[in-house]
Amino acid sequence: MHNFVFIGSPGAGKGTHAATLGNQLGLLHISTGDLYRDEMAAGTPLGLAAKRLLDQGLLGTDAMTETLLRRRLARPDTGGGFILDGFPRTLAQTEVLRKILRERGQPLTAAIFLAVPDQSVIKRLSGRLICLQCRQIYHREYNPPRRPGCCDVCGAALRRRADDRPATIKERLRVFHAQTGPILAYYRDRQLLVTVDADAPVATVAQRVEQAARRLIQ
Ligand SMILES: [Zn+2]
Repeated sequence: MHNFVFIGSPGAGKGTHAATLGNQLGLLHISTGDLYRDEMAAGTPLGLAAKRLLDQGLLGTDAMTETLLRRRLARPDTGGGFILDGFPRTLAQTEVLRKILRERGQPLTAAIFLAVPDQSVIKRLSGRLICLQCRQIYHREYNPPRRPGCCDVCGAALRRRADDRPATIKERLRVFHAQTGPILAYYRDRQLLVTVDADAPVATVAQRVEQAARRLIQ
């Protein structure tokens, strides 16, 4: 039984690599972003409260995220271990996670940090296009659609997300560094931090992540 967390800047590929590693090691991939989306789609009181925050450009509170995570971890399919993506995002959340894992009697195996230089993040995100219809993601340079401006899957128009405008990307990176510096230090101090050079094509990074994780669980 092993538990990992993934840490990485916007556009570093946390979701992709957490899902891939989950499949390779038979661990459940839990994305707190997905937990929020499911909750909002179900229209629960917590989902509606979260939607009001997101509509104002804010994030869910630490307490909301903790509630969602605890509820998800209480389900029986998490007993074999899991990979968290999107949590912890703040130093306070690292303590919440430590508490949760202690209650479960399950230590953290490692925090995997996908390291990507800021210039590469800006290049990755500013080229990203999303299908307005089916949410498929493309990249002008790395993963272009067959027909410019049109989704390969459903044919609908592709757009850049508001989040991926250059000024917004710089602000997201500033927030990321301010919040993540202390989290990296926290895991480094506990000898739980594994840094993977993620400034490479997806397949190469996936290989590096798998090798690093397998070394840890031998
Ligand atoms: Zn589409």
